[in-house]
Amino acid sequence: MTVWVEVDLCNGCKRCVKTCPYGAVEVTEGKARILDNCTSCGACIQVCKQVAIQTDVEPRKIPDFSDRKGVWVFAEQRDGILTPVSLELLGKARELAGDLGQDVSAVLLGYKVSGLCETLGEHGADNVYLVEHRALKEYRTTAYAKALEELVTRFKPNILLMGATHIGRDLAPRVSRRVGVGLTADCTELSIEPEEKILLQTRPAFGGNVMATIANRYSRPQMATVRPGVMEAGGPTGKKAKIITHKISLTEKEIKTKVLETAREKKKGVKLDQAKVIVAGGRGIGSREGMKALFSLADAVGGEVAGTRIIVEEGWLPAERQVGQTGQTVRPELYIACGISGAIQHRAGMLGSRYVIAINKDERAPIFEVADWGIVGDLHEVVPALTKQIRASKKK
Ligand SMILES: Cc1cc2nc3c(=O)[nH]c(=O)nc-3n(C[C@H](O)[C@H](O)[C@H](O)COP(=O)(O)OP(=O)(O)OC[C@H]3O[C@@H](n4cnc5c(N)ncnc54)[C@H](O)[C@@H]3O)c2cc1C
Repeated sequence: MTVWVEVDLCNGCKRCVKTCPYGAVEVTEGKARILDNCTSCGACIQVCKQVAIQTDVEPRKIPDFSDRKGVWVFAEQRDGILTPVSLELLGKARELAGDLGQDVSAVLLGYKVSGLCETLGEHGADNVYLVEHRALKEYRTTAYAKALEELVTRFKPNILLMGATHIGRDLAPRVSRRVGVGLTADCTELSIEPEEKILLQTRPAFGGNVMATIANRYSRPQMATVRPGVMEAGGPTGKKAKIITHKISLTEKEIKTKVLETAREKKKGVKLDQAKVIVAGGRGIGSREGMKALFSLADAVGGEVAGTRIIVEEGWLPAERQVGQTGQTVRPELYIACGISGAIQHRAGMLGSRYVIAINKDERAPIFEVADWGIVGDLHEVVPALTKQIRASKKK
């Protein structure tokens, strides 16, 4: 395959230069030039509005997806209780479906779970695809994957979203493999590209050092998982969903696994995902001793203490209090970041906070880019002073 530039058509816009993942295009004297390290990936051809970059290979055709309709959400339930992420995804699905002019559907699998259809309707599902079977009482990979595959194949959704829970992380790749499509895991943002109307799926990539936006032009459904707490559940819509019941044939023989016993581990400790106020510390705290001032501030504002991965690695806080890409995702009303630089991996876990106050002695720290209020100063002075003022104002 050869790629070349029709110089008469090229206007030197540099769109190709920005798009080429290999740095194999340059613009000299106002004209694009393909370099020797070109891999013929075709990325530049797709973005060239002048049709100046050409190739001798037939471009890949985008299939006709006009029969693919609807934004689907896998409504995960355990023991008849919907997981919060299912409602969070319905909130996002409403927004995406609005941009596409399509319906939102929830997919509910289980046994005697039809009572949940009302909640799904209230939270934005126009339809609920309901599959009830004794074999779906507890989550088992093969049974759930088969049911979901059947629904996707028969009803042909455009988009399928699932929570990146233990179940979602197990089920989503199985289903994507069965229906022959890709899957973008752990997305932090989803939106619709306005021209092509395809799903843009943003997630951290290359060890979390960049945010990559992935789009799937060539297969449907477009599948993505999202971690709990990343999206916001919409308020009740007062709507009633249409229930579409689907019968499935499942035998124990084909499922192969049996649930003999369910042992539940009681989750003790902090519930950062439910905290209204979080006081978070970073390396700037300086020592385990320094954490005391953060606990005092958290106590004064009625909040929880959290931290960056660095301070968890230092042993100043337990891992359950880590916020970020490899920690927890939080959405408090107020996030007070003390001595935190604001690395992309940390921000991935706290961007849903309503208000952010950042305290950092470096005025160029990236945390100030996402802060509503910034205090440039030494946290060892600022934090105790803040705590003192809050306590004093409460006494009044
Ligand atoms: C794959 C991967 C996953 C990761 N996952 C996570 C994750 O989930 N969560 C996470 O947090 N990180 C994660 N990281 C690490 C992340 O890249 C950063 O290294 C980390 O968030 C930085 O932590 P920090 O802000 O505490 O430290 P630093 O980046 O060292 O920042 C310390 C800040 O404190 C300020 N400071 C110093 N002294 C004072 C003072 N006296 N008063 C005020 N300010 C002061 C400094 O100006 C600086 O901005 C991950 C990294 C990778 C590669």
